[in-house]
Amino acid sequence: MKEYKNYQLKGNNTFGIPALCDKFIGYAGVNDLKELYEQHVFDKQWMSVGCGANLLFCGDYHGTIIHSTAKEIHILEENEKNLLVRADAGIILDDFIAQAVSNGWGGMENLSAIPSSVGAAPVQNVGAYGVEAKDVVERVHVFDTRDGSTRTLSNEECKFGYRDSLFKANPQYVVISVELRLTKAKNHQLHLDYGNLRSSLPADISLEGEDVLKEIRDAVLRIRHDKLPDPADIGSAGSFFKNPVVDRSVVDRLLIDYPKMPFYEMENGYKIPAGWLIEQAGWKGMKRETVGVYEKQSLVLVNLGGATGYDVWDLAQSIVASIQEKFGIGISPEVIKVPN
Ligand SMILES: Cc1cc2nc3c(=O)[nH]c(=O)nc-3n(C[C@H](O)[C@H](O)[C@H](O)COP(=O)(O)OP(=O)(O)OC[C@H]3O[C@@H](n4cnc5c(N)ncnc54)[C@H](O)[C@@H]3O)c2cc1C
Repeated sequence: MKEYKNYQLKGNNTFGIPALCDKFIGYAGVNDLKELYEQHVFDKQWMSVGCGANLLFCGDYHGTIIHSTAKEIHILEENEKNLLVRADAGIILDDFIAQAVSNGWGGMENLSAIPSSVGAAPVQNVGAYGVEAKDVVERVHVFDTRDGSTRTLSNEECKFGYRDSLFKANPQYVVISVELRLTKAKNHQLHLDYGNLRSSLPADISLEGEDVLKEIRDAVLRIRHDKLPDPADIGSAGSFFKNPVVDRSVVDRLLIDYPKMPFYEMENGYKIPAGWLIEQAGWKGMKRETVGVYEKQSLVLVNLGGATGYDVWDLAQSIVASIQEKFGIGISPEVIKVPN
């Protein structure tokens, strides 16, 4: 276990925002977490942080940040159709996906290049190109910081929703590892009908072929590279806002003024792309000193250099207010403000 005091978090959040935390602890697994429990670390202010790809630090964090450094992968079950793999929370999700693809294990290729730890993937129920973590997560192993016990939660118990899970409302659980059910050749369930994924694949691709997972991963990498800023170059947390889900009456009202407005029927209403609303309100590519709205994707707020969390948050609040004024719709952040 490694412990740092007055730790600088600039390199631990993809916005690249400077902020200090009182203590930063890299832990390797359950035994370390038990030790921290015995030391009463969880009786005071604390939080789990993976890659910090969905966090906005507004000021210093007066508490302890714990960060998993556990990186083991174990195959728990295997048959000719699929396999069950347990991956530790500290693994970089895309490293795992790259390895899965090269092993011919299918199910997560559409999630390629999402900046995330494996531990945060079920917390956020990360999703891209028609696939979400919930589609492959079979069980999640957690440490309960209230009593120092461990628990295993089934997919159903995780209560997955759109960028949501039981873990969001229950931060007392630290994800230790995740069990993922992945498919083997001839049993892959490919998801190609989201956005321009299918048209980005080579015209002569064989969907039964050996290279199909790699072709899909490569296409996703290309699309994302064209559309999203690389946190190594431009600080961001990806989509800053969630897509609002509204009643049909709201859709009908807006269609009068915006007949080309995109909207999608969901179980609980109609989803309107927040990026479309933000673009229509004129924010795309807008720059405000240290912060801006990414010119290729208006859902993404970026650190143009030297931004504080407050600069980003102020811009976000201005966007929320303008969408409310123009469309009468409330949009809310997907990004987690710390402290909130
Ligand atoms: C350029 C870019 C593109 C992105 N694209 C996508 C996308 O396509 N789809 C998508 O879904 N998201 C996307 N995101 C958002 C981000 O990648 C996800 O939210 C990701 O899951 C965050 O992972 P993390 O490890 O950085 O978690 P963090 O940001 O560190 O934490 C996120 C939440 O998870 C909790 N957490 C972290 N680790 C643990 C743990 N071990 N146990 C319990 N709780 C934990 C934290 O407390 C926090 O509440 C993007 C972000 C960026 C910067």
